Amino acid sequence: MTRPSLIEVVAILKRHLTVAPVPTEPFQMILWENIGYLIDDPRRRELFNAFETAIGLDPAAIAAAGDGELAPLAKRGGMRPETRVERWRTIARIVLSQPGGDLDSALRGLPLVKARALLKTFPVIADPGADKILLFAGIAPRPALESNGLRALARLGFFPEQASYDRSYKAAIAALVEDGQADGAWLTDAHQLLRELGKTTCKRGEPICAACPMEPVCPKAAVKAL
Ligand code: SF4
Repeated sequence: MTRPSLIEVVAILKRHLTVAPVPTEPFQMILWENIGYLIDDPRRRELFNAFETAIGLDPAAIAAAGDGELAPLAKRGGMRPETRVERWRTIARIVLSQPGGDLDSALRGLPLVKARALLKTFPVIADPGADKILLFAGIAPRPALESNGLRALARLGFFPEQASYDRSYKAAIAALVEDGQADGAWLTDAHQLLRELGKTTCKRGEPICAACPMEPVCPKAAVKAL
């Protein structure tokens, strides 16, 4: 069977997978990434909501909060809670250092390369995370992927796996540019749906091809690992 196009793949995934909503505002996206350590999506949502209730999704409120308010929340998010408290304060400090304390406006006013560089000053935000924020916030409709989506895209045959993660990431992004749509909504769907595929069936150690909606057309179906 001929492999479907990338646009057809995303359409198939959209029919079969459900993706929980995530924040799309830059400051909230950064806080979301830093809310816990190695936690699954439902737990991340639970902690994020608890943080909103206890502190507020407001950099000034985070900066003003004491250890007694932040530490109990950080302890609910896994290992190294002290590091997490420091990271929350760093996030608040960087956002408050922007004009008007408004990260979203600051990013929109910068050339893309500088917006990306600003995002990478935040804890745990590297190139893929910066691209994701710019995409989800509607600032720059450039492709982005995370590790689960990248793995699924490789197994589906859209790019050959490379020797390093960086090179694989570049190859995957090139595939999205070449075969996808230069449209923010489509690219956001592609990011989230490929991630969901990688997390639910196209798992790193052992893909569950029998339960995968792409199994009939996937060149690596039934392959147990890359
Ligand atoms: S069929 Fe298997 S290898 Fe292919 S995308 Fe699905 S889980 Fe991954």
